Formats: sequence, structure tokens, C-alpha cells
Amino acid sequence: MFRKKYRGCLLGTAIGDALGMQTEGMQPEDIKQKFTIVFDYGKGRADSINENLRPGQYTDDTEQTIILARSIIRSGKFDPVEFSTLLVEHYEKIIVDPKLNRGWGSTSLAACKRLSEGIVWNESGDRSPTCGSSMRVSPIGLLHPGRPDETEENARLSSLPTHKSPESIAGAVAVAVAVSLAIMNTNPDLIIQTSAEHASKYDSTLAEKILSIEKVRHLPENTAFSILKTSFMTRDIVPSALYCFAKNPLDFPKTLITAINAGGDTDSIASVAGAISGAYLGADVIPKRWYNGLENRGEIESIALALWEIAKHNIQ
Ligand SMILES: [Mg+2]
Repeated sequence: MFRKKYRGCLLGTAIGDALGMQTEGMQPEDIKQKFTIVFDYGKGRADSINENLRPGQYTDDTEQTIILARSIIRSGKFDPVEFSTLLVEHYEKIIVDPKLNRGWGSTSLAACKRLSEGIVWNESGDRSPTCGSSMRVSPIGLLHPGRPDETEENARLSSLPTHKSPESIAGAVAVAVAVSLAIMNTNPDLIIQTSAEHASKYDSTLAEKILSIEKVRHLPENTAFSILKTSFMTRDIVPSALYCFAKNPLDFPKTLITAINAGGDTDSIASVAGAISGAYLGADVIPKRWYNGLENRGEIESIALALWEIAKHNIQ
């Protein structure tokens, strides 16, 4: 059971990201006008940050998730120094060849520059309240299945090298706790409540917004997203991603289709929603066409299984 859930989580991250890449930055009404509804991969839009990406390719969300997962596999635990080293390795590749940059945000790039100049990991992070540390954090939840306290502490530490604002830390904590509980089949309402409870220690506004999902869940999707918001700020993408899961807890495809048609930062909303839904439901629910069309899926699955080999010792 757990192997399917670990594969589901990381495949869900990458598939959500790759599906959402084509609509990143669009308004929901423009998505509707151009596509009616998006339900499969598409290439990056001309003149967008993703214009060189083909259908099924993912962006910075998955790249940073893979980097975080690899750092855990190398160390056998979460080590912020190892994580920072791997972030800088990737950053330096982007600097040498900017065509390799799949949408790394200015916050992450500025922080990696500071890391590369020798600033220590707990000082290098930027204060901007963006979602970079929330979108990549699912491996921390996978490392501590069913253990929100340990998850919270490592999610906090994993945010610092690039994002040290309270909002960003709270977002990383919220997402990692949700993944940690989804792996253990925790009731979705309790996932939302516990996620908000841990996030509230760093940002009460984000926590309140997560709790408001209960009130907006039964509204039409466009109304719910106009309340929750969908920009790349942590306070927007984390509640919106949790909403997509909470609205469709037993339906992985619907969770992602809701996310990628929301408008705004669709790749990050869909990758976070995909991580939680995939962790909850397991890889068997992934439609074949999405699975087969995803780039690099073999490596993503190997990484998921290697994480499980480490994490299984953490299950009580
Ligand atoms: Mg992205």
C-alpha cells in the first residue's frame, strides 16, 4: 500500500505541474475562452515562461521537489546543508545555460546566488512571501508519515535556504503536514484542520484561510477561487491547492482538473494538490494517458520508492 502512495505523491506532484504549466499565469476566463476546459497536457504558451516546454514536461516545482527528495536519499534524513548544496548545483547549471531555467522564481534564484557566495543556509533565504518552499516540500511529509510534529520542524528548516518569511514557512509546514497525514489515510477534514493548526504557529492569516475552505467548498469553483485567490503568493496557492483536494478527496483527475483551470499559478496549485491527492489515493488512480505522457517518470518513481525505504523506519 505505501509504495503506491509514495509513487502517487511524487507522480501527482509532477503530473499536476506538467498539466498546469500550459495555463500558468492565465486568467480563468481566458482559459475558458481558449480551451473551454483543460484536461490533458499541452505545450507551454508562446511568450510565457514555459514557452520551450513540450506537453508532459514539468517545471521548477517538480525540479525542486526532486532536489529535496535526492538530498534526503543521500543523507538518509533531511539535512539542510545537503539540500542547499544540491540547490546550488542546479542553480549553477541555470547560470551557465539560462535555457535550462524552467521558471525558477526570482526569490529562489536570489537565495541560491547567496548560497553560492557562501552565505549559510539559515541566512540565505529571501523575505518575499512567495510559494517556492511550499510547492517543493512533499518529500518532507513523505519522510515522516503520520508524524506532524517532526514534519513541521523539517518543513520549517527546508524553507529557510530560499524562503524565510513567516508566510512561506507556514505554507511549507501546511503542505508537508497534509502529505504526512494523507499517506496514513487520515480523514480529509482532519488533514485540513491539522495542516492549519501547524501553520498557525507561523502565520495565523494563512491558517485562517485554510480553515475557510470548509465555508467555500460548496460554492461554484470560480467563486471559491475568487475568494481564496490563485497568485504565486503562499497565502493564495496553499489554500487553493488544499481546496482542490478537499473538494474532490476521492477523485484524483478532478482534483487536478479543478486546479489547472483555476487560473493564476496553476502549475504550483496543481502540483501541491497532486502531491496530497496522490499521497491519499495512491498511484493506481492516475489516468494512463497522464502517466504515460509524463517526462522522467521512471526516475520520479525510483525516487519515491527510495524515500519509502528511508521513511518506513519512521512509521510506528
Ligand atoms: Mg512552476
